[in-house]
Amino acid sequence: MLPTETDLQLLFARLNCRFFNGEAPDCRIRYNERFSNSAGRITYGAHPMLIELSPKHFRKYPDALEETLLHEMIHAWCYANFRDTGHGARFRRKLRECGLTSIHHELGNVRPLNESSKRYILRCEQCGFEVLRRKRPGRPSSCARCNKRRFDARYPLTIYEIVETKAVGTTIDVPRAALSGA
Ligand SMILES: [Zn+2]
Ligand SMILES: [Zn+2]
Repeated sequence: MLPTETDLQLLFARLNCRFFNGEAPDCRIRYNERFSNSAGRITYGAHPMLIELSPKHFRKYPDALEETLLHEMIHAWCYANFRDTGHGARFRRKLRECGLTSIHHELGNVRPLNESSKRYILRCEQCGFEVLRRKRPGRPSSCARCNKRRFDARYPLTIYEIVETKAVGTTIDVPRAALSGA
């Protein structure tokens, strides 16, 4: 059973308290049945900002709902406070603070949910160096830029999982007609 939209607003309030000190901007949360290839989306241009979630996706993966909502809330928070969109350094810092390690990226063509292929970004938080990996590394690795010569625990690489089946929130300045594709 999917939570109702009222339940979602309550969940929003709970997450807001827990991770944003109550300072996440108000968002309207709606299900959008038309979403088939993306789990969630935020529209910055709406007042209040609009978070849409895919009922199809969360019927199948109910456990992912809270994390997806939190992901979109981080977008809302970044945008409200810094006019910051996308998955840049500030977004990822907040993501980590919230205990999440997946970055949901839109990497070109979105694939159907059931084919979702995962890849990993290894990122040095010290210098911003990033490498892409197909597999999750089996052992800890450190930044090859911060210490070229050997493994150095001072510069660990954080592992982020890329989930390709997620639309990202860049609908600001996009004509309304362009939004209908979800
Ligand atoms: Zn580094
Ligand atoms: Zn995102």
